[in-house]
Amino acid sequence: MIDEVTNLETNNEEERTIEKSLRPKTFSDVIGRTSEIQNLRIMIKAAKKRGIALDHLIFHGPPGLGKTAISYVVAHEMGVPLHITSGPAIERQGDLASILTGIEEKAILFIDEIHRLNRVVEEVLYPAMEDRAIDVVIGKGPSAKTLRLELSSFTLIGATTRMGRISAPLRDRFGANFRFGFYDYEDLARIVQQKADVLETTIDKEAAYEIARRSRKTPRIAIRILKRMRDFADVNNDGKITKKEVVEGLKMLNIDRIGLDYLDRKILQTIIENFEGGPVGLSTIAASISEDLETIEDVCEPFLLREGLIKRTPRGRVVTKKGIEHMKESGESVYLL
Ligand code: ADP
Repeated sequence: MIDEVTNLETNNEEERTIEKSLRPKTFSDVIGRTSEIQNLRIMIKAAKKRGIALDHLIFHGPPGLGKTAISYVVAHEMGVPLHITSGPAIERQGDLASILTGIEEKAILFIDEIHRLNRVVEEVLYPAMEDRAIDVVIGKGPSAKTLRLELSSFTLIGATTRMGRISAPLRDRFGANFRFGFYDYEDLARIVQQKADVLETTIDKEAAYEIARRSRKTPRIAIRILKRMRDFADVNNDGKITKKEVVEGLKMLNIDRIGLDYLDRKILQTIIENFEGGPVGLSTIAASISEDLETIEDVCEPFLLREGLIKRTPRGRVVTKKGIEHMKESGESVYLL
């Protein structure tokens, strides 16, 4: 019943199949996220009891923390189809109108990166969400007429890494909002173990925990590392992943003790060496390392902030003492102090 329109993370067929098999299917497959799941269960039970569509939901938080995966679970638990699209993919009002008119009763429309919808398109969403209707203009000039089209009663799930960029009128039309925070190491180690089972790979407890500790508290990164470790283990050790392999493998992947990769460290190093530890604006950092601003802001910064390695000030980003210590300890060249 689930319609796989896009998968933004993978572009090859085999990867797509693996990604699909790794996705939790029911609430009981979801690891952690206890309070979110508890709330969703209640909302779904109530909607089913009343025979109505689930209220519109917004999922926000850094990438790779389960927003898409949990949307699939919600659709499964509701027993309805899920249609997936993304903000940048909907360019014109007509694109959104044709998606909305094709949606079945109580089905779910998942719009990833909803903060990237353009304002003109966004305006079509307001009556669609509120009144389950859209206004279509037919013809041009003085003879143009507006026709109101009734839609099925559907649920919109919007996902975003930038809650601050969602306009107030759109934000107000969601019935509930869920913040997806980082995972703790225990839950992440359980996720690694669960995915290893799906991939039919043997991993010992210590190794799963080591991957968890080095994955920036993010399941998508943990899964990516697990897959690489599976390759290493297949080549070196009859396929069994042990802590020794993980430690050696991560060294080759340039991932350090706390999970920072080359780009994270490059950011810290640049602030320290070129800008005397900060404050420095994010766009200046992006320009000095020739990296995309959005990648730094969405992917790297939330974890660096969360771990207290950098801090935000009104004048820009500053590397903290902890950040400097970490860079010194990891043997990168740090001239400051
Ligand atoms: P997002 O949409 O937030 O970018 P995804 O939903 O794509 O993140 O999650 C990334 C990967 O992590 C997916 O393979 C997903 O199945 C897995 N995952 C995320 N959260 C959980 C969880 N709580 N339990 C099990 N697997 C999870």
